[in-house]
Parts: sequence; C-alpha cells; structure tokens
Amino acid sequence: MKRIFLLLLIVVTVQISAQTDAENLKKIYDNSLTNGMSYQWLDHLSNQIGGRLSGSLNAEKAVQYTKEEFETLGLDKVWLQPVMVPRWVRGAPEFAYIETSPGKTTNVNICALGGSIATPEGGVKANIIEVATYKDLEALGEAKIKGKIVFINRPMQANLINTFEAYGGCSSERYRGAQEAAKYGAVGVIVRSLNLRLDDYPHTGSMSYGDLPNSMRIPSAAISTNDAELLSGMLALDENIKFYFSQHCKKLADVQSYNVIGEITGSEFPNEIIVVGGHLDSWDLGDGSHDDGAGVVQSMDVLRLLKESGIRPKRTIRVVLFMNEENGLRGGKKYAEVAKSKGENHIFALESDSGGFTPRGFSFQSSEAMLTKIQSWRPLFKPYLIHYFEEGYSGADISPLKNDNIVLAGLRPDSQRYFDHHHAANDTFEHVNKRELELGAASMTALIYLIDKYGTDTINAEVQLKD
Ligand SMILES: [Zn+2]
Repeated sequence: MKRIFLLLLIVVTVQISAQTDAENLKKIYDNSLTNGMSYQWLDHLSNQIGGRLSGSLNAEKAVQYTKEEFETLGLDKVWLQPVMVPRWVRGAPEFAYIETSPGKTTNVNICALGGSIATPEGGVKANIIEVATYKDLEALGEAKIKGKIVFINRPMQANLINTFEAYGGCSSERYRGAQEAAKYGAVGVIVRSLNLRLDDYPHTGSMSYGDLPNSMRIPSAAISTNDAELLSGMLALDENIKFYFSQHCKKLADVQSYNVIGEITGSEFPNEIIVVGGHLDSWDLGDGSHDDGAGVVQSMDVLRLLKESGIRPKRTIRVVLFMNEENGLRGGKKYAEVAKSKGENHIFALESDSGGFTPRGFSFQSSEAMLTKIQSWRPLFKPYLIHYFEEGYSGADISPLKNDNIVLAGLRPDSQRYFDHHHAANDTFEHVNKRELELGAASMTALIYLIDKYGTDTINAEVQLKD
C-alpha cells in the first residue's frame, strides 16, 4: 500500500513538474521575443565595434563592452580571465588578376588566409596549376609544380543537408594547402572559398604551415567562388595563363587579451558548474555578426532570461565569452586549463557558434543514458519547433573541457545560409534576423533551465525507489 502511494506521489509530482517546466519554457521564450537583449547587444558589437580579430583594438573594445554589459545584469560574479593571443594583421588590401596574354588581365577577388605570410614586395606572378585537393599534389610532384602557383579548386559538397559536413569536407584544403604545395616548390596557393553559392566574396579562415621552416613558407589566399569558376574555365582553355597576387599580411608578437566571464552562482549546488558560451573574436572582413557575435549575445542573454523569468538556478551557470577561437583557440584552452587547475566540477557546457539562424535543436557529446534523458524533454520544445536532439560535435571552445564527466552540447540552427557569410565581408548585422536570434537565445536558456533543474546524473527516481 505504502509503495503504491509512493508511486502515485511520483506520478503526480512528475506531472506537476512537467507543467511548470512547460510554463517556465513559455516564460523564457516570451521574454526573449518581447524583451530580449540579444539583438541590441549584437547591434552594438557589430555596428559600433565591428570585426574583432584577436589582438586587435576592436577585440579589446569588445572585451570591455561585454564586461560592462554583464555588470549591469546584477550577476553574482563578473571577471576577465587573461590569455595571451596571437596577432595577425591583414595590412593593405590584396590584389589579384588572371593574365591571359601579356598586358591582358582580368581582376579577381581574393583575401589572404589567416596566418599566411605576405607575397614578396611587388607580388607574385607565375603560371598556375589547378588541383581538386591537396592530395593530388603528390602525384604531380615537383616536375609539374615547381615555380607555379597552386590553385586548389574543391567545391563544398552541395547534397549534404548539414552544411557543416560539407565545410568539414574541404576545410583541410584551406588549412594545409600551403604547407603541402610548398614541399613541391610552389610559389603561392590560391584556394577556392568555402562557400556553397556562387558570388564575389572571398572567405578567409585559418591556415597553417605546420613544421615548415620560414624559408619554405609561401603566401596563401582564398578566391571567390565566381572567380574560382572563371579561373578554372580559363585554365581549361589555356594552361599557360598566368596569375598575379599581392598581399601584405603579417604576424606580430602575441598580446594579452581576455575571456569575459559572468556567473550566477548556484543556490543549492554551487560547485556543479554549467558553462554557456560563444567566441568574442571574429575574422576581420565583416563585423562577425553570425560568427560568432550571435553566439556571444545569445549566451549573455541566457543569464538575463533566467533572471527575467524568475528562475533561480540550483547550479552555477557561467557564461564564458571565449577569445581567439578563430586563429588559435587560446581562450578555450586557457579556460579549461584554469578549470582543471582549480579542480572545478563542470557538468555541462553549451556552445553557440553556428550562426544566428532559426534554431532546430542541439547536438550532444554525452553518454547514451544522458542523451535519452535529454531526448525525453522533446515534447517541451515542440511548441517552439525545436526537434533536433542528436549525438554530434558540440563546439571548438568547449572541447578542451571534455572528460568522462561532462556533457557537451552545441546549438544547432538551420545551416543552409551560414556559409554564404562565414568568414567573409558579408558576415554583417543586416544578415541576422532578430526573431531567429532571439529564438536561439530562448532555446539555449530553456535547455540550461532543464539541465540545471534535473542535473546530469542519469540515475532516475524509479531506480532509487527499488533500493
Ligand atoms: Zn565561429
């Protein structure tokens, strides 16, 4: 009899709690859509500050601005975590053309890849050889490559629904192209922009020379997809055409910067830490609105939306605005290093770094039991058209926190338009939709609310009753 009563009590409690959960989620979404701050913060970050490459004055302005905004939210703690970051500067704009015969040239749009060296004074002009991937270089060898510019023309795969998979399929061409081509005596590398549509914007992104000595390093740039098609077409007609490019970028000494951190300390389990974040730095061509201004302001609004919705977290919710994701990940590494040295117990981390588009759900790196538990919350998200709760990569900044104990998660917005803007001059504020951004902030807050309430311990009530 006593046992039946206990079971009944649990059923009733679960039902009441589900009701309050639905009500609390509604409050969170209502607040974000009617009274959210994410769009206003993004406006400032994008239009008053702009592109925030690590080590730049703008990156430091963004540190100060977000810290000041945190301070207005009445949080329990706000602080800056120092971190040394690389400093690479683009210098004067790049210039490039295709020369079909002496004096007959067509200008094309390029941008230096982050981390690349400059061209020699006066630029580089040479014959150009097209490959589909850097792996083709070995077969061509020095005989075909020496003294030429290598053009890596690998389009992103269009039939993949998750465009991040298409990005992953070709990002190593950009990252490794120069180090591989240099081994065969190439004098420069031009990489097709990682963009699924045809347009005139070149897309930057990080590249690496690996262990190559300075004397072997060659300049590397991205070309717009329209111009990649043009160049490929011209090469098909005449393989003796020449390509010219000049760029003036350089790497300076590391400088000190900061991760910006704001926290609501847990009322019952302050030592169980839940991290939410995005990265404060961005590339320099646009204003970094989607990558990752959106993730920054959504993360900031998680703390505010919890407060506005009258939710006092049991566990510590810490928002971290990571510095230097784009060209070093120093902020993510530093945060994890400090957390480890302090013996902090991080139970969950959520990153938003996939653009400010309509949220679809979340990806998780977790145990199967925990994923099943999270998937049981699906009905709560149904009214908001959030349905995707699957295993998958979470995000770069939180990945150094990975251990057996923590659950990592990533906000997964619709990804179809993301690579139209990613790392290009058109990653700007007008391409972010206010409601889409706010729905993302609300979805993140809703997930954090549930994680905080139920924890990440997967031993459920029924199991406890049997004991
Ligand atoms: Zn990013």
